Amino acid sequence: MNSKGKEGTIIKGYSGFYYVLAEETLFTCSLRGKFRQKEKGQTFLPGDRVIISSFDDQKGAIEEVLPRKNELLRPTIANVDQALLVFSLTSPNPDFTLIDRLLLFTYLEQIEPVLIWTKGDLATEEGITKAQERFIPTKVKQIVVSTKTMEGIDGVKAILKEKITVLAGPSGVGKSTLLNAIEPGLALKTGEVSKKTGRGKHTTRHVELLRLSFGALVADTPGFSTLQVPDIKGTDLAQLFPDMAEYAGRCRFTSCLHRTEPDCAVREALEQALIHPRRYENYLLILEEVMEKDRRKGKGR
Ligand code: GDP
Ligand code: ZN
Repeated sequence: MNSKGKEGTIIKGYSGFYYVLAEETLFTCSLRGKFRQKEKGQTFLPGDRVIISSFDDQKGAIEEVLPRKNELLRPTIANVDQALLVFSLTSPNPDFTLIDRLLLFTYLEQIEPVLIWTKGDLATEEGITKAQERFIPTKVKQIVVSTKTMEGIDGVKAILKEKITVLAGPSGVGKSTLLNAIEPGLALKTGEVSKKTGRGKHTTRHVELLRLSFGALVADTPGFSTLQVPDIKGTDLAQLFPDMAEYAGRCRFTSCLHRTEPDCAVREALEQALIHPRRYENYLLILEEVMEKDRRKGKGR
């Protein structure tokens, strides 16, 4: 049997071969010679959508690669649909500055963010409200989970289904424990002690998409470990803050940076508590960094 034209997703590359998930079957695929000759150096990434021909129900060849929607560098994955920003409500306490930067990064890469608040069993109602309220104006989806009570686990599963997802968040917040609760068969190592031995492995291993039983693909390595200041103009930054973006278009000056300019709709929204003051403070900090980077680039020209 040699059937052409199955569309699939690369799960992982391994010494010249690629594992491709197509029609719920995992094929071990070689590359057609044309890829080696014509586009030397073209790399195929986990997440790449490909057309394969199959020789039998296990082996095939990659015939065609479809255009990428996006490409993440850490971990190196193509066509990422969404990022779960995983933070614990307590122990450790949420790092809101890091969340703001991660959010900015996902908007920049056009990846849908979802905020996952872990350790719900350890948090008070007040703690949950306080963590979430800051992000309500951003309209980012927020889910509280606990692997102790299993609260929220089905909600996370529903979000992961049929998507390519990267997890991000500091160590110790419960990312591995969450994935294990979602898919017990994964048996990922958890806790600080095993983490240390695991870290060395991450540097040599190939990135891989984990295939979850209910039809979800999740990167096996947490993402965005190096967050760079975005390469944009200061006047564009507010567009990457969804809680500010809708007001930013109504300022008197189109070049408004929403600092001290007159008739600034962002500052008016801030005064009416439509934007959270801490979010705005972080906007100002990141704005300084963005403009500094832009200035340095200008000098180098
Ligand atoms: P990671 O570094 O983000 O992968 O974090 P781990 O999954 O290794 O979890 C760190 C610690 O948090 C472990 O000791 C877990 O048992 C604990 N933990 C994770 N999720 C929960 C939860 O929902 N409730 C409680 N009470 N502890 C949790
Ligand atoms: Zn303004």
